[in-house]
Amino acid sequence: MRNRNIDIFISGAGPAGLLTSLSFASLGYSVFCVDPKKPVTRSNDDGADLRTTAFLQPAKTFMASLGLWEKLEPFAEPMEIMRIIDSAGDNWPPVETTAKDFLASEISDLPFGWNIPNWLLRRTLLENAMEYSNLELKFGLTTSSIIRRDDAAFVYLNDGSQIKSKLIIGADGRDSLVRDKSQITISKREFSQKALTFIVTHEKPHKNASIEIHRSGGPFTFVPLADFEGKPCSSVVWMESNKNANRLLTLKPKEFEGEVNNRSCMHLGKLRVISAISDWPIISQLAKQLTAKRTALVAEAAHVLPPIGAQGLNMSLADIKSLHDLAKGPSRLTNVNEILSKYEQSRNFDIKTRVLGINALNEVSKSSIYVAQKSRALGINFLHSSPKIRQRLMQLGLGINEPN
Ligand SMILES: Cc1cc2nc3c(=O)[nH]c(=O)nc-3n(C[C@H](O)[C@H](O)[C@H](O)COP(=O)(O)OP(=O)(O)OC[C@H]3O[C@@H](n4cnc5c(N)ncnc54)[C@H](O)[C@@H]3O)c2cc1C
Repeated sequence: MRNRNIDIFISGAGPAGLLTSLSFASLGYSVFCVDPKKPVTRSNDDGADLRTTAFLQPAKTFMASLGLWEKLEPFAEPMEIMRIIDSAGDNWPPVETTAKDFLASEISDLPFGWNIPNWLLRRTLLENAMEYSNLELKFGLTTSSIIRRDDAAFVYLNDGSQIKSKLIIGADGRDSLVRDKSQITISKREFSQKALTFIVTHEKPHKNASIEIHRSGGPFTFVPLADFEGKPCSSVVWMESNKNANRLLTLKPKEFEGEVNNRSCMHLGKLRVISAISDWPIISQLAKQLTAKRTALVAEAAHVLPPIGAQGLNMSLADIKSLHDLAKGPSRLTNVNEILSKYEQSRNFDIKTRVLGINALNEVSKSSIYVAQKSRALGINFLHSSPKIRQRLMQLGLGINEPN
């Protein structure tokens, strides 16, 4: 493969790159996507992403329109309840001081979202990609450089091939080369925190609740999964200060499990850790622009945020849907400049407000200051106390911008 001429070039085949590829292939465009790494599609293989993604209602609607949801649904555990618990104070093990339930049934007859293991998501997306003859996925290849002209863009890969394309989409993650080569700068914030992720079984059923337990260092969150070997099961995202997270990572498995049980306030009874533990640095990052000549950034190439409120990949799907809808028209990419400028306008505000909002929630959640912890508990009670505020908050969390 030396020279190719295609409609859309996508750099990166992480979850966002695969979803972008499928969405444009579904419109009949010729799509070419590269990634140095082949996605790992079995949970026991090296490098498997054992995190899970909670897809919120708008993401599901978009994936259903692409014919993807019916393939993901068998693996998706619904989230009907969002429980916020505060456990601040000097007690160790901690005890629950405030617990409030937000019910999906208050705002619609659908769950808030559906939780899917990331390795299964990748497997399903890859299988689906095989169904499109106009979509080429190439692994082991890296985007190296880009030249942009008025009538087309030229992408050079690390094997020396050249791809001529009408539109380039950077889905190449937080260190995006496409962003870099487009001279798009970022603002970045490090929180000196890590998220530890793993899977647990528990004594009590989760009853399809996603449960956030606040103390200091960040929330400890259960997200429901299907039963494992007959036992109730959830994925956990435990955010902690770097110092504490590093200490936890050096513990022996039984000691770690003991800490997990304590930190969970035994809310779901005794827990057993049944997977490896992975750790993720917590940062917030925002690209100053989403577009450059013949180029759009999506997903983590454009925005990274702390894993609170399941916003990351859900925001990415909103990016992809926006571009997809703009490219759907009869002009078939003859108006790339117009598409890019509308994309920038349509996503800018939502991305900025969500990044700011999640950063603020993270600050409140990780605080160990007594006054901040007291205000957090009061805040939870206040936000829960009025049905109007409670319902609007739930809609905003889901990415529903217009009240019903
Ligand atoms: C602990 C945790 C829990 C989370 N939970 C949720 C959740 O419940 N809901 C939610 O919506 N979001 C969640 N997120 C966020 C979500 O996981 C991320 O948004 C998502 O994984 C990022 O996907 P991506 O495709 O943008 O980036 P990546 O997965 O990083 O993919 C980028 C790809 O680009 C490739 N690449 C890099 N450079 C090049 C190059 N030069 N050329 C070609 N390819 C290149 C890489 O190899 C990689 O495969 C969570 C995040 C964390 C850390």
